[in-house]
Amino acid sequence: MSEKKPFEIARETLKQITSRKLVPTPLNYQTIYNEIAGIPQIQPFPADTLREIAKALPAKTPGQQKQRGLLEYAIDRMNWEGVKTALVAYGGFAPSGSSDSAGLQVSSMSTDKGQGASAAITADFLLQIGRMIEYAQPAMGSDDARFEEQTRDLLRVLKQPGTDVATAKLMLVNYSHRLSFAAEDQAEIKASLLKLLHMVFENIGELSLEEQWLKGQMDALMAAAQPPLSLRRLDDVERRLKDVIFKQKDAKGRAMEAHDEMRQMLATFIERLSEITQSTGSYQERLVENARQIEQAKTIAEIAPVLKEVVGSTRSMAEQSRLAGEQLQAMQERAIETEQELAKLHKELDRVSTLARHDPLTGALNRKGMDEALAKEVSNVHRKDVPLSVALLDIDNFKKLNDSEGHATGDDALAHLASVARECMRPQDTLARYGGEEFVILLPDTPLEQGVEAMTRLQRELTKRFFLAGTQKILITFSAGVAQLAANESGADAIKRADQAMYLAKRAGKNRVLAA
Ligand code: GH3
Ligand code: MG
Ligand code: MG
Repeated sequence: MSEKKPFEIARETLKQITSRKLVPTPLNYQTIYNEIAGIPQIQPFPADTLREIAKALPAKTPGQQKQRGLLEYAIDRMNWEGVKTALVAYGGFAPSGSSDSAGLQVSSMSTDKGQGASAAITADFLLQIGRMIEYAQPAMGSDDARFEEQTRDLLRVLKQPGTDVATAKLMLVNYSHRLSFAAEDQAEIKASLLKLLHMVFENIGELSLEEQWLKGQMDALMAAAQPPLSLRRLDDVERRLKDVIFKQKDAKGRAMEAHDEMRQMLATFIERLSEITQSTGSYQERLVENARQIEQAKTIAEIAPVLKEVVGSTRSMAEQSRLAGEQLQAMQERAIETEQELAKLHKELDRVSTLARHDPLTGALNRKGMDEALAKEVSNVHRKDVPLSVALLDIDNFKKLNDSEGHATGDDALAHLASVARECMRPQDTLARYGGEEFVILLPDTPLEQGVEAMTRLQRELTKRFFLAGTQKILITFSAGVAQLAANESGADAIKRADQAMYLAKRAGKNRVLAA
């Protein structure tokens, strides 16, 4: 605020108006006065101008009429907020399909460009936008019925020949506003689902038996469910989860049976024990009574029948104890047996894992898992028209390794090969144990030559990474055949061709890769 007194400010204001040659209107006086006094300038409310704009607005629909009324009401009260609300709401009442009333700011677009070539380009452009929206629609889910309806209306308008650009633009503006919410929702849903999935995995992990295999599977599941997700990784999650569920069901059923049996035996055991204490208790009472009778007896004749009773009681007591002892012994033996059965359970679980989809020794898919993965890859080839190669490899002279180093070392060699193969494969490739020392590798999106190259790369990698049997370095080599899935060929037939090529590689001297 200025330090000047009001009359000084008034005098200075008049001086300024004269020196700046301003027209002495009340508005100019106020403006200069405020400037000198240091009072913030207050914009005058342009009621007349706004009224002219309101009058110029078309009021064809009831909605437009209502909003224009509200606008005039707000102007009368010099209410900027009301003016803003009425104008925004008025924009939403633009009728679709007619260019003359398409709205405030876009009507020029539709009128000044004329017809002809540009109209054709525009129609095609709108059609392309429509297609793009249509393709992206499934990604937005179908939870929001109003959004779906809005999308349908927009698509209808975009595809309609002769659609007015201004109308389409207005609808697109509304659509993208809503789309931003739908996209955010989808991202959030995905993130929450992933979180839930992790919680489920953690829980299964904690509930599961103390088994190494299950623990490994749970870790792999957690790793496979990390973003970014792809359909292939989700497939892997699904297969592993199926294995875990299968094994858990089996393990739970058997463990419950064994525990039930133990519980029952324990109950019988306690029952027997109480019977024994009861009967010894009653004998004891009788013996105390017998002792009292003996003490009070005055003649031998009186003692004789009591002694007879004592001898009888002692004999049946001994007999009872012997019987109980035998029963307890039998029960103890059975309990030990059950305990051993429980211990065997874990080993048996590994045996039944052949029904699962992963091979426990190498962690590769087993036949069942491979069949499922192959079916998916083959259907992918048909849907996307991309090449798929399959490779079949068989370790050279494996029997000799088994014979010289032992079966357990042979097992380690198989696991070594699988781990080297996994490391030099791409994430989308699939490794499966086809038979004893035979593996299949599925190579999606890979033409034949690249498939052969991939197998040659694995050969090279094995020469760099020796297999260690104790301290002894052993070079593992293999022979392989690679086939690219032909049109109308089944996955099994492609593997058969790869197998034939592998056989030829063996015949040609082993340690080589041949294309089928
Ligand atoms: P070739 O170079 O012609 O392939 O000869 P090879 O000795 O590798 O092949 P052959 O088919 O004669 O023998 C394969 C051996 O693999 C026989 C079998 O005992 C052994 N084998 C199969 N499965 C396993 C396994 O799980 N562990 C171990 N250690 N050996 C296995
Ligand atoms: Mg073989
Ligand atoms: Mg072999």
